[in-house]
Amino acid sequence: VTSPEHIALGPGREFDAIRSLLREWAGVAEHIGDDAALLEVPRGERLVASVDACIENRHFRREWLTPREIGYRAVAAASSDLAAMAARPLGILIALAVPDQWRADLDEIGAGIADACRGTGARILGGNTTAAGELSITTTVLGSAFAVLERSTLRPGDTLYLTGSLGASGAALHALRANTALDPSHRVRFARPQPRIAESQWLARAGAHAAIDVSDGLAVDLAHLAAASGVTIEVHLEDVPVVPAIPAERAVASGEEYELVVGARAPLDTADFAARFGLPLTRIGLVREGDTEVVMLRAGVRVANVGGYDHFTI
Ligand SMILES: [Mg+2]
Repeated sequence: VTSPEHIALGPGREFDAIRSLLREWAGVAEHIGDDAALLEVPRGERLVASVDACIENRHFRREWLTPREIGYRAVAAASSDLAAMAARPLGILIALAVPDQWRADLDEIGAGIADACRGTGARILGGNTTAAGELSITTTVLGSAFAVLERSTLRPGDTLYLTGSLGASGAALHALRANTALDPSHRVRFARPQPRIAESQWLARAGAHAAIDVSDGLAVDLAHLAAASGVTIEVHLEDVPVVPAIPAERAVASGEEYELVVGARAPLDTADFAARFGLPLTRIGLVREGDTEVVMLRAGVRVANVGGYDHFTI
């Protein structure tokens, strides 16, 4: 049984840092200080767990984001994998590796972590801090679900739907790398992505049965879905919702969008979804029998070499 009270922490520099973080995490962290976290899973549901690392100069550069955004983004990205499974977030475990030159920013990073948890409803249940040569934030997310969405359950005849619009995150990354003017609406999508937690609950209840979150770019993530399910996915580029002024070919290569693609056998009520969440839900393609591949079409003609996002080129 979890208790919101923390265990008293002993002396030392690491524990001083944790005490300071616990002030940022007031009302969000629970029962910190024991050897391990305790977690109640609702009766009849399954535990859903995932871990995600966010590393300086690999996933972001210091000059691109505030420390608060870095903390937020790490936890939001990890939480998106729970959305992709239609799991409700219960808690997180957070491992922080902090170089000396980031030490003064630790509370702000912690504030961003708390922001993300307030957004998803997850509690901070425990973690670890250590000195390191580069900043890294490794988030284990723990959730629960009665009916999960999986990658391997697409079948021929299914319709594919996408939440939101694509392209802003990739455009922001492009501008940051090139050090060119950055549209604030693109920046916010990059710095403060929204894991689609409530949306995925709705989608699962409405009859969606397969899903993936768009982390590597729609084209690449659809290829993962096609491979997992052993099907052909057909998408018409004209149908993919894209943010203004971004070509569809770039939008489908835009990574770290954290929108959801779901497959459903029967039509989903896109108008109800849009009214409820203020976000479009758009039919973007269908599933066919055939080779495990993604076929992208423009004006009925197959488009070759629609690219993906490479995590290792920032
Ligand atoms: Mg994912």
